[in-house]
Amino acid sequence: MDQQVSSQPTNQVAQLIQESSNDILRALKLFMSDGNVIELRCPETKRGTKSGYFNNLNTAVKWATLLNGNVPFVYITINPVNPELLARAANRIKDYSKYTTGDNDIVRRRFFLIDLDAERPAGISSTNEEHEAALTKALLIRDFLKEEGWPEPGLFDSSNGAHLLFAIDLPNNEESKNLIEKCLKSIDALFSDDKNQKPRILVDQKVFNAARIVKLYGTWSQKGDSTPERPHRLSKILSLPEKLEIVSVDKLNSLAAMYVEPIREPKGYSGDDFNLETWIKEHNLQVYKTKSWKNATIYVLEQCPFDSSHGRDSRITKFNNGGISFGCFHNGCSGNDWYALRDLIEPGWKDRKENNDFQKNIQSNNLTNKKIKIPTGFTASQLMKTEFKDPLWVISGVLCEGLSILAGRPKLGKSWLCLNFAVAVAAGGKALGNISVDKAEVLYLALEDTPRRLKKRLAIVLQDTPAPEGFYIFNDWLKTDRGGLEQLNNWLLSHPKCKLVIIDTLAKIRKATNSINGIYQDDYAAIEGLKSIADKYGIAILLVHHLRKMTSEDPLEQISGSTGLTGAADALMILKRERGRADASLFITGRDVEETEKALEFDKVICTWCVLGDAEEYRMTEERREILEVLKNSKEIMTPKEISQILRKNVGAVRKLLITLEGEGLIKKVGYGKYFIGNSGDSSNSIHSGNSGNSSERVTELPQELPQELPHENAGSLERRGFSESVTRITAVTENDNFLAGCGPGDSWQ
Ligand SMILES: [Zn+2]
Repeated sequence: MDQQVSSQPTNQVAQLIQESSNDILRALKLFMSDGNVIELRCPETKRGTKSGYFNNLNTAVKWATLLNGNVPFVYITINPVNPELLARAANRIKDYSKYTTGDNDIVRRRFFLIDLDAERPAGISSTNEEHEAALTKALLIRDFLKEEGWPEPGLFDSSNGAHLLFAIDLPNNEESKNLIEKCLKSIDALFSDDKNQKPRILVDQKVFNAARIVKLYGTWSQKGDSTPERPHRLSKILSLPEKLEIVSVDKLNSLAAMYVEPIREPKGYSGDDFNLETWIKEHNLQVYKTKSWKNATIYVLEQCPFDSSHGRDSRITKFNNGGISFGCFHNGCSGNDWYALRDLIEPGWKDRKENNDFQKNIQSNNLTNKKIKIPTGFTASQLMKTEFKDPLWVISGVLCEGLSILAGRPKLGKSWLCLNFAVAVAAGGKALGNISVDKAEVLYLALEDTPRRLKKRLAIVLQDTPAPEGFYIFNDWLKTDRGGLEQLNNWLLSHPKCKLVIIDTLAKIRKATNSINGIYQDDYAAIEGLKSIADKYGIAILLVHHLRKMTSEDPLEQISGSTGLTGAADALMILKRERGRADASLFITGRDVEETEKALEFDKVICTWCVLGDAEEYRMTEERREILEVLKNSKEIMTPKEISQILRKNVGAVRKLLITLEGEGLIKKVGYGKYFIGNSGDSSNSIHSGNSGNSSERVTELPQELPQELPHENAGSLERRGFSESVTRITAVTENDNFLAGCGPGDSWQ
């Protein structure tokens, strides 16, 4: 016998237990109809968790009656269980059960549970007032759903709160789970009490799992000690129709569509001055029925604005907190939300609204400074005491956890770069030629590609090595506002070893838009959603973004200035064509990432980007080489202006470099600001240049492709070190020069 019995022994209770045996029988009949297998489970007993599986009604009744009152709780699975689990404990109760029913053990979803409870500290029973308030709320929700055309549910006293139970018939899969979860969110949004309300009755939003258990009706619930204020109670069947009619999927969808996500995605929230009633009148929408419920008013439309044949199946729901949703459960209307309705009824509303909001913001900034919240700051000593974690690199020095954007002009080789990252991570090999990376799974959404083209590319990159395991490729994915985020979330749930997700490109996954003003908002929403997924799973998401029009010379300025892409991203990479010894540069910057720029070379044989070193260093050596070459070819004394004209470069920058070169003894100065190559300047070694090609032609007309010159490896390491030092000096001069200040990296030479 368990200890709990001592807290519950009176004649009155014995009488009640007797009466409840009828409820136990009715409840078991309900859940075990059609030969369904159920689990009875009693946690927190003296003998651990007691559990058993039943398909024999009489035995189940016998055991439930025996357990009732002798254990704290008797629970039952509401949905039918895989019959094979009978073999764990068939039609009997086993002590110290290790295994209980999991979501995957459920064969079908047969019941939709709405669970109402008063907010209270854990581990205690409800007061009578709380108990009654929960039951009252259940009746209100039952009325609401009846109004929505739902059938009569079962109504139960769960001993501390109330249950409504509707019959459904859905497969046990992700889609059903999401649907039930959304339905509970809608009910919660419509009916849960405000924070200040006492007692505060809440709709439990977590009871959507397939293996959900409820207290077996007719059994005692013995939470904590029974006190007059918070007594133990018997759970009861309050009303149960002879047969529960099945709720259609349409009705479930309709309920699910009423929900408006309040914080993460402020979709469907209108400004304070938006008046839905006026809007409905102005646009001649016929309302069939209006009814106010606890937290919202529901407008049932006479016909669906998207398709008149949909009849009275569409609703606008206006929540008291400002949220508005629209939904119509017909297949053709899936995805038609409140924004879609406004797009349909009043095209261009978004642009007008943004303009108004902007005006309003300006006004409120001028008038009511009190309302502007001061951002979080810190003192210098606080800052010094703060320890910042190093970014967690997926590819050391290049790609860290969180959301990164890879931007650059089309056809520059961004996709090759992605493929290089993906193969390196999936194989645990080297990225960019020499950066060792840890092996992890990779998801590559190559949304601009076809399988055929990808295979060809992958074959080039892999050469003779086998394709790495754990490299998943999709050419198709839903847009972020149409379930793409959920797809990603679900995929990651089942691939815990994934560390890198590449999305090629942003335009292919964000909400389709034709409004110029809308792009920023849509980008931001998409990026924010992706970032929260990256943070949730501790992975890197790399988002590829084409810069179609180069409005600014500085791509960083372009993407942060015009589209605000960087707002939600953790890091930003810009791939840019380079003139000179490197083919391209990869500029990397971010919140916790030190700003770097790497010089890259494209290996045309294996179509792979390799890192050469610091981009600035490569650029400077190239610029030095060009100046020395001009002087060498001219064999005459030249002014900085003459050199800059040949090179088509900024004269000030050329002058600076000439001074440095002279300081290093590579060139000589004559009179006031004229230069020539002295005998001591053996340029053929120092400038890393070869003799191939016509050099004078090359310096006047800069090559578009990689110049034909000796690879950098041929340069002696000592000389290279020497160059690095001189480069550092030149850079310092450049940074202090007002004329060049404000130019992006490398732009001073273009
Ligand atoms: Zn419709």
